[in-house]
Amino acid sequence: MNNPPLKYSQPGLYIHLPFCKTRCKYCAFCSVSETSDDVIGRFVQCLNREMVCAGKHWKHFDTVFVGGGSPSSIDHGHLKRIMCAVKKGFKIEKNSEITLEINPGDVTIESLKTWADIGFNRFSLGIQTLDSKSLRLLGRRHDRKEALQALELMRQWTKEHNQIRLEQFTYSVDLIMGIPGQNTTDWLETLHSVINYQPDHISCYQLTIEAGTPLAQQTEAGTIKKVTESLEAELYKLTHQFLTSNGYVHYEISNYAYTSQNFSRHNMKYWFHIPYLGLGPSAHSFDGHSRWWNISDIDLYCKQIENGLAVTDNIEPLDDLTRENESIFLQLRTIWGLKRDINGDGNELWEMLIKSGHLISRRGRMRPTLKGMMVADRIAAMLMEI
Ligand code: SF4
Repeated sequence: MNNPPLKYSQPGLYIHLPFCKTRCKYCAFCSVSETSDDVIGRFVQCLNREMVCAGKHWKHFDTVFVGGGSPSSIDHGHLKRIMCAVKKGFKIEKNSEITLEINPGDVTIESLKTWADIGFNRFSLGIQTLDSKSLRLLGRRHDRKEALQALELMRQWTKEHNQIRLEQFTYSVDLIMGIPGQNTTDWLETLHSVINYQPDHISCYQLTIEAGTPLAQQTEAGTIKKVTESLEAELYKLTHQFLTSNGYVHYEISNYAYTSQNFSRHNMKYWFHIPYLGLGPSAHSFDGHSRWWNISDIDLYCKQIENGLAVTDNIEPLDDLTRENESIFLQLRTIWGLKRDINGDGNELWEMLIKSGHLISRRGRMRPTLKGMMVADRIAAMLMEI
Protein backbone atom coordinates (compact mmCIF):
# COMPACT_ATOMS: atom_id res chain seq x y z
CA MET A 1 0.00 0.00 0.00
CA ASN A 2 1.83 3.10 -1.15
CA ASN A 3 -0.39 6.13 -1.21
CA PRO A 4 -3.94 6.39 0.11
CA PRO A 5 -6.45 5.61 -2.68
CA LEU A 6 -7.81 9.14 -3.02
CA LYS A 7 -7.25 9.92 -6.69
CA TYR A 8 -10.14 11.91 -8.20
CA SER A 9 -11.92 12.16 -4.82
CA GLN A 10 -14.84 14.54 -4.68
CA PRO A 11 -16.14 15.81 -1.31
CA GLY A 12 -18.23 13.53 0.92
CA LEU A 13 -21.75 14.23 2.19
CA TYR A 14 -22.82 13.18 5.70
CA ILE A 15 -26.48 13.38 6.79
CA HIS A 16 -27.37 13.01 10.46
CA LEU A 17 -30.82 11.59 11.28
CA PRO A 18 -31.08 11.83 15.07
CA PHE A 19 -33.89 9.36 15.80
CA CYS A 20 -33.76 5.98 17.55
CA LYS A 21 -36.51 3.70 18.79
CA THR A 22 -34.80 3.28 22.17
CA ARG A 23 -31.72 4.79 23.74
CA CYS A 24 -28.60 2.64 24.28
CA LYS A 25 -26.93 2.94 27.67
CA TYR A 26 -23.56 4.06 26.29
CA CYS A 27 -24.92 6.54 23.76
CA ALA A 28 -23.55 10.08 23.66
CA PHE A 29 -24.59 10.77 20.07
CA CYS A 30 -27.11 13.41 19.12
CA SER A 31 -30.29 11.34 19.02
CA VAL A 32 -33.72 11.13 20.62
CA SER A 33 -36.13 8.25 21.15
CA GLU A 34 -39.88 8.18 21.67
CA THR A 35 -40.65 10.74 19.03
CA SER A 36 -43.62 10.98 16.69
CA ASP A 37 -43.76 10.62 12.93
CA ASP A 38 -44.90 14.27 12.72
CA VAL A 39 -41.73 15.42 14.47
CA ILE A 40 -39.64 13.38 12.04
CA GLY A 41 -41.62 14.80 9.10
CA ARG A 42 -40.97 18.36 10.29
CA PHE A 43 -37.28 17.52 10.74
CA VAL A 44 -37.01 16.10 7.20
CA GLN A 45 -38.51 19.30 5.75
CA CYS A 46 -35.94 21.35 7.66
CA LEU A 47 -33.10 19.08 6.61
CA ASN A 48 -34.12 19.43 2.98
CA ARG A 49 -34.13 23.22 3.38
CA GLU A 50 -30.61 23.09 4.83
CA MET A 51 -29.64 21.05 1.76
CA VAL A 52 -31.00 23.70 -0.61
CA CYS A 53 -28.89 26.39 1.14
CA ALA A 54 -25.78 24.20 1.09
CA GLY A 55 -26.32 23.56 -2.63
CA LYS A 56 -25.26 27.16 -3.32
CA HIS A 57 -21.69 26.27 -2.29
CA TRP A 58 -21.41 22.49 -2.63
CA LYS A 59 -22.05 20.82 -5.99
CA HIS A 60 -20.47 17.37 -6.34
CA PHE A 61 -20.09 14.39 -4.03
CA ASP A 62 -18.86 10.86 -4.57
CA THR A 63 -19.75 9.46 -1.14
CA VAL A 64 -22.93 9.90 0.88
CA PHE A 65 -23.29 8.54 4.40
CA VAL A 66 -26.65 8.61 6.14
CA GLY A 67 -26.01 8.00 9.84
CA GLY A 68 -27.44 8.87 13.21
CA GLY A 69 -29.31 7.97 15.24
CA SER A 70 -30.88 4.93 13.60
CA PRO A 71 -31.78 6.03 10.07
CA SER A 72 -32.99 2.51 9.26
CA SER A 73 -35.76 2.86 11.84
CA ILE A 74 -37.45 5.84 10.23
CA ASP A 75 -40.29 5.48 7.75
CA HIS A 76 -39.06 4.62 4.24
CA GLY A 77 -41.05 7.56 2.82
CA HIS A 78 -38.90 10.00 4.84
CA LEU A 79 -35.68 8.36 3.68
CA LYS A 80 -36.90 8.52 0.11
CA ARG A 81 -37.68 12.25 0.40
CA ILE A 82 -34.20 12.89 1.80
CA MET A 83 -32.42 10.96 -0.95
CA CYS A 84 -34.57 12.60 -3.66
CA ALA A 85 -33.52 15.99 -2.28
CA VAL A 86 -29.87 14.87 -2.32
CA LYS A 87 -30.10 13.83 -5.97
CA LYS A 88 -31.97 16.99 -6.91
CA GLY A 89 -29.68 19.36 -5.01
CA PHE A 90 -26.26 17.91 -5.85
CA LYS A 91 -24.46 15.97 -8.52
CA ILE A 92 -23.80 12.52 -7.07
CA GLU A 93 -21.04 10.99 -9.18
CA LYS A 94 -21.52 7.68 -10.94
CA ASN A 95 -20.28 4.78 -8.80
CA SER A 96 -20.56 6.79 -5.60
CA GLU A 97 -20.49 4.97 -2.28
CA ILE A 98 -23.90 5.59 -0.66
CA THR A 99 -24.09 4.17 2.85
CA LEU A 100 -27.03 3.70 5.21
CA GLU A 101 -26.48 2.88 8.88
CA ILE A 102 -28.85 0.12 9.91
CA ASN A 103 -29.91 -1.64 13.08
CA PRO A 104 -30.32 -5.43 13.02
CA GLY A 105 -33.99 -5.27 14.06
CA ASP A 106 -34.86 -3.21 10.96
CA VAL A 107 -33.41 -5.66 8.41
CA THR A 108 -35.93 -7.58 6.30
CA ILE A 109 -35.85 -8.62 2.64
CA GLU A 110 -38.46 -5.92 1.91
CA SER A 111 -36.54 -3.15 3.68
CA LEU A 112 -33.27 -4.11 1.96
CA LYS A 113 -35.04 -3.94 -1.40
CA THR A 114 -36.56 -0.54 -0.57
CA TRP A 115 -33.26 0.91 0.68
CA ALA A 116 -31.55 -0.30 -2.51
CA ASP A 117 -34.30 1.24 -4.66
CA ILE A 118 -33.89 4.52 -2.78
CA GLY A 119 -30.22 4.48 -3.85
CA PHE A 120 -28.15 2.96 -1.04
CA ASN A 121 -25.42 0.56 -2.14
CA ARG A 122 -23.56 0.05 1.15
CA PHE A 123 -25.06 -0.95 4.49
CA SER A 124 -23.38 -0.45 7.83
CA LEU A 125 -24.89 -2.89 10.29
CA GLY A 126 -24.63 -2.08 14.01
CA ILE A 127 -24.19 -5.54 15.54
CA GLN A 128 -21.80 -4.39 18.34
CA THR A 129 -21.52 -7.86 19.92
CA LEU A 130 -23.18 -11.26 19.72
CA ASP A 131 -22.85 -11.89 23.42
CA SER A 132 -26.34 -11.66 24.94
CA LYS A 133 -25.09 -10.44 28.32
CA SER A 134 -23.08 -7.62 26.70
CA LEU A 135 -26.00 -6.64 24.46
CA ARG A 136 -28.21 -6.26 27.53
CA LEU A 137 -25.53 -4.28 29.34
CA LEU A 138 -25.23 -1.90 26.37
CA GLY A 139 -29.02 -1.59 26.25
CA ARG A 140 -29.18 -2.48 22.56
CA ARG A 141 -32.60 -3.02 20.99
CA HIS A 142 -31.61 -6.35 19.39
CA ASP A 143 -30.62 -9.71 20.85
CA ARG A 144 -28.19 -12.33 19.52
CA LYS A 145 -30.87 -14.16 17.54
CA GLU A 146 -31.98 -11.00 15.75
CA ALA A 147 -28.36 -10.03 15.04
CA LEU A 148 -27.64 -13.43 13.46
CA GLN A 149 -30.83 -13.23 11.37
CA ALA A 150 -29.79 -9.77 10.13
CA LEU A 151 -26.31 -11.02 9.23
CA GLU A 152 -27.77 -13.97 7.33
CA LEU A 153 -30.20 -11.75 5.41
CA MET A 154 -27.43 -9.30 4.61
CA ARG A 155 -25.14 -12.05 3.33
CA GLN A 156 -27.79 -13.72 1.21
CA TRP A 157 -29.28 -10.55 -0.16
CA THR A 158 -26.01 -8.82 -1.16
CA LYS A 159 -24.74 -12.04 -2.76
CA GLU A 160 -27.91 -12.63 -4.78
CA HIS A 161 -28.27 -9.02 -5.85
CA ASN A 162 -24.67 -8.64 -6.90
CA GLN A 163 -25.23 -11.53 -9.28
CA ILE A 164 -28.35 -10.15 -10.92
CA ARG A 165 -27.85 -6.37 -10.82
CA LEU A 166 -25.18 -4.19 -12.27
CA GLU A 167 -24.64 -2.33 -8.99
CA GLN A 168 -22.34 -3.73 -6.37
CA PHE A 169 -23.84 -3.88 -2.88
CA THR A 170 -21.54 -4.26 0.08
CA TYR A 171 -22.02 -4.37 3.81
CA SER A 172 -20.01 -3.54 6.86
CA VAL A 173 -20.43 -4.67 10.46
CA ASP A 174 -19.78 -2.44 13.48
CA LEU A 175 -18.52 -4.17 16.62
CA ILE A 176 -17.59 -2.92 20.09
CA MET A 177 -14.85 -4.42 22.25
CA GLY A 178 -13.89 -3.72 25.82
CA ILE A 179 -17.45 -4.02 27.15
CA PRO A 180 -17.48 -4.47 30.96
CA GLY A 181 -17.57 -8.19 31.75
CA GLN A 182 -16.37 -9.19 28.26
CA ASN A 183 -13.52 -11.67 28.03
CA THR A 184 -11.34 -12.86 25.17
CA THR A 185 -13.48 -15.98 24.64
CA ASP A 186 -16.71 -13.96 24.22
CA TRP A 187 -15.00 -11.58 21.85
CA LEU A 188 -13.43 -14.30 19.70
CA GLU A 189 -16.79 -16.04 19.51
CA THR A 190 -18.37 -12.81 18.18
CA LEU A 191 -15.60 -12.33 15.60
CA HIS A 192 -15.77 -15.96 14.57
CA SER A 193 -19.54 -15.92 14.11
CA VAL A 194 -19.50 -12.58 12.26
CA ILE A 195 -16.95 -13.62 9.64
CA ASN A 196 -19.07 -16.69 8.80
CA TYR A 197 -21.41 -14.17 7.14
CA GLN A 198 -18.58 -12.72 5.02
CA PRO A 199 -19.02 -8.98 5.58
CA ASP A 200 -16.99 -6.84 3.18
CA HIS A 201 -15.86 -4.56 5.97
CA ILE A 202 -15.65 -4.75 9.77
CA SER A 203 -15.16 -1.86 12.22
CA CYS A 204 -14.08 -2.77 15.76
CA TYR A 205 -14.27 0.13 18.19
CA GLN A 206 -13.12 0.22 21.80
CA LEU A 207 -16.03 1.11 24.06
CA THR A 208 -15.74 4.62 25.45
CA ILE A 209 -17.76 5.23 28.58
CA GLU A 210 -18.94 8.80 28.04
CA ALA A 211 -19.78 11.05 30.98
CA GLY A 212 -23.48 11.47 31.65
CA THR A 213 -24.54 8.17 30.07
CA PRO A 214 -26.31 5.46 32.13
CA LEU A 215 -23.23 3.29 31.66
CA ALA A 216 -21.04 5.99 33.22
CA GLN A 217 -23.44 6.23 36.17
CA GLN A 218 -23.29 2.47 36.67
CA THR A 219 -19.49 2.60 36.54
CA GLU A 220 -19.41 5.44 39.09
CA ALA A 221 -21.80 3.53 41.35
CA GLY A 222 -19.52 0.49 41.09
CA THR A 223 -22.21 -1.83 39.72
CA ILE A 224 -20.09 -2.43 36.62
CA LYS A 225 -16.34 -2.35 36.15
CA LYS A 226 -14.39 -0.96 33.21
CA VAL A 227 -12.10 -3.48 31.51
CA THR A 228 -8.43 -3.08 32.34
CA GLU A 229 -5.95 -1.49 29.91
CA SER A 230 -4.13 -4.81 29.57
CA LEU A 231 -7.36 -6.61 28.57
CA GLU A 232 -8.09 -3.82 26.08
CA ALA A 233 -4.65 -4.30 24.54
CA GLU A 234 -5.12 -8.08 24.44
CA LEU A 235 -8.51 -7.74 22.71
CA TYR A 236 -7.01 -5.34 20.19
CA LYS A 237 -4.13 -7.69 19.33
CA LEU A 238 -6.45 -10.70 19.14
CA THR A 239 -8.72 -8.83 16.74
CA HIS A 240 -5.81 -7.95 14.47
CA GLN A 241 -4.49 -11.52 14.50
CA PHE A 242 -7.87 -13.11 13.96
CA LEU A 243 -9.15 -10.83 11.19
CA THR A 244 -5.89 -10.54 9.25
CA SER A 245 -5.43 -14.32 9.36
CA ASN A 246 -8.93 -14.58 7.89
CA GLY A 247 -8.07 -12.37 4.93
CA TYR A 248 -9.05 -8.89 6.17
CA VAL A 249 -6.75 -5.90 5.65
CA HIS A 250 -6.24 -3.87 8.82
CA TYR A 251 -6.17 -0.45 7.13
CA GLU A 252 -7.00 1.90 9.99
CA ILE A 253 -6.82 1.55 13.78
CA SER A 254 -10.42 0.32 14.03
CA ASN A 255 -11.18 -0.71 10.45
CA TYR A 256 -10.73 -3.88 8.44
CA ALA A 257 -11.67 -4.46 4.79
CA TYR A 258 -11.89 -7.74 2.89
CA THR A 259 -10.33 -6.21 -0.24
CA SER A 260 -8.95 -2.79 -1.10
CA GLN A 261 -12.25 -2.18 -2.95
CA ASN A 262 -13.98 -2.29 0.42
CA PHE A 263 -12.06 0.49 2.20
CA SER A 264 -14.60 3.02 3.46
CA ARG A 265 -14.24 5.77 0.85
CA HIS A 266 -16.29 8.12 3.00
CA ASN A 267 -14.16 7.76 6.13
CA MET A 268 -11.03 8.22 4.04
CA LYS A 269 -12.12 11.84 3.57
CA TYR A 270 -12.07 12.48 7.31
CA TRP A 271 -8.57 11.03 7.64
CA PHE A 272 -7.00 12.75 4.62
CA HIS A 273 -8.48 16.25 4.71
CA ILE A 274 -10.77 15.84 1.71
CA PRO A 275 -13.68 18.31 2.11
CA TYR A 276 -16.97 17.02 3.46
CA LEU A 277 -20.33 18.57 4.17
CA GLY A 278 -22.37 17.53 7.20
CA LEU A 279 -26.10 18.21 7.30
CA GLY A 280 -28.43 17.82 10.26
CA PRO A 281 -27.93 18.54 13.98
CA SER A 282 -24.38 18.10 15.33
CA ALA A 283 -22.97 17.30 11.86
CA HIS A 284 -19.43 18.52 11.13
CA SER A 285 -18.15 20.01 7.87
CA PHE A 286 -14.74 20.84 6.41
CA ASP A 287 -14.08 22.83 3.24
CA GLY A 288 -10.29 22.63 3.05
CA HIS A 289 -9.76 25.79 5.15
CA SER A 290 -12.19 25.69 8.08
CA ARG A 291 -14.17 23.21 10.08
CA TRP A 292 -17.64 23.97 11.45
CA TRP A 293 -20.43 22.08 13.11
CA ASN A 294 -24.17 22.40 13.55
CA ILE A 295 -26.11 22.90 16.76
CA SER A 296 -27.05 19.64 18.47
CA ASP A 297 -30.47 20.61 19.80
CA ILE A 298 -32.96 19.08 17.34
CA ASP A 299 -35.84 21.42 18.16
CA LEU A 300 -33.61 24.49 17.97
CA TYR A 301 -32.17 23.21 14.68
CA CYS A 302 -35.69 23.05 13.21
CA LYS A 303 -36.72 26.45 14.62
CA GLN A 304 -33.62 28.16 13.22
CA ILE A 305 -34.26 26.76 9.76
CA GLU A 306 -37.97 27.61 9.87
CA ASN A 307 -37.01 31.19 10.74
CA GLY A 308 -34.45 31.36 7.93
CA LEU A 309 -31.51 31.43 10.36
CA ALA A 310 -28.16 29.61 10.27
CA VAL A 311 -27.70 26.34 12.18
CA THR A 312 -23.91 26.56 12.59
CA ASP A 313 -22.88 26.22 16.21
CA ASN A 314 -19.23 27.11 15.75
CA ILE A 315 -16.55 27.57 13.13
CA GLU A 316 -12.85 26.87 13.49
CA PRO A 317 -10.43 28.19 10.85
CA LEU A 318 -7.53 25.76 10.43
CA ASP A 319 -4.08 27.34 10.22
CA ASP A 320 -1.10 25.42 8.79
CA LEU A 321 0.07 24.18 12.20
CA THR A 322 -3.39 22.87 13.19
CA ARG A 323 -3.72 21.14 9.84
CA GLU A 324 -0.27 19.57 10.19
CA ASN A 325 -1.12 18.37 13.71
CA GLU A 326 -4.42 16.96 12.53
CA SER A 327 -2.61 15.10 9.73
CA ILE A 328 -0.30 13.55 12.30
CA PHE A 329 -3.21 12.59 14.53
CA LEU A 330 -5.46 11.20 11.77
CA GLN A 331 -3.11 9.79 9.17
CA LEU A 332 -0.87 7.93 11.59
CA ARG A 333 -3.97 5.88 12.37
CA THR A 334 -3.92 4.43 8.83
CA ILE A 335 -1.64 1.98 7.03
CA TRP A 336 -0.74 4.72 4.54
CA GLY A 337 0.58 6.89 7.33
CA LEU A 338 1.84 10.39 6.78
CA LYS A 339 3.96 11.92 4.02
CA ARG A 340 7.11 12.88 5.89
CA ASP A 341 10.72 13.64 5.16
CA ILE A 342 12.44 12.85 8.43
CA ASN A 343 15.40 15.06 7.65
CA GLY A 344 13.39 18.00 8.93
CA ASP A 345 13.07 19.40 12.46
CA GLY A 346 12.26 16.96 15.21
CA ASN A 347 13.67 14.00 13.29
CA GLU A 348 15.16 12.49 16.45
CA LEU A 349 11.76 11.64 17.82
CA TRP A 350 10.62 10.16 14.49
CA GLU A 351 13.82 8.10 14.37
CA MET A 352 13.33 6.94 17.92
CA LEU A 353 9.80 5.80 17.06
CA ILE A 354 11.19 3.83 14.10
CA LYS A 355 13.85 2.22 16.29
CA SER A 356 11.30 1.30 18.94
CA GLY A 357 9.17 -0.44 16.29
CA HIS A 358 6.19 1.94 16.45
CA LEU A 359 6.67 3.42 12.96
CA ILE A 360 8.26 2.37 9.71
CA SER A 361 9.51 4.71 7.02
CA ARG A 362 8.73 3.57 3.48
CA ARG A 363 8.62 5.47 0.18
CA GLY A 364 8.49 8.89 1.77
CA ARG A 365 5.73 8.01 4.23
CA MET A 366 5.84 7.26 7.94
CA ARG A 367 3.52 4.35 8.67
CA PRO A 368 2.41 2.88 12.00
CA THR A 369 3.13 -0.74 12.85
CA LEU A 370 0.62 -2.74 14.91
CA LYS A 371 2.59 -1.67 17.99
CA GLY A 372 2.26 1.93 16.82
CA MET A 373 -1.46 1.65 16.11
CA MET A 374 -2.02 0.43 19.66
CA VAL A 375 -0.69 3.70 21.08
CA ALA A 376 -1.40 5.99 18.13
CA ASP A 377 -2.95 8.75 20.25
CA ARG A 378 0.11 8.88 22.52
CA ILE A 379 2.49 8.93 19.55
CA ALA A 380 0.51 11.73 17.92
CA ALA A 381 0.57 13.75 21.18
CA MET A 382 4.37 13.41 21.37
CA LEU A 383 4.89 14.35 17.71
CA MET A 384 2.57 17.33 17.94
CA GLU A 385 4.70 18.83 20.69
CA ILE A 386 7.89 19.10 18.58
S1 SF4 B 1 -28.61 3.10 18.07
FE1 SF4 B 1 -26.73 4.39 18.07
S2 SF4 B 1 -27.46 6.51 18.10
FE2 SF4 B 1 -29.21 5.20 18.68
S3 SF4 B 1 -29.21 5.17 20.90
FE3 SF4 B 1 -28.02 3.38 20.21
S4 SF4 B 1 -25.89 4.10 20.12
FE4 SF4 B 1 -27.21 5.91 20.22
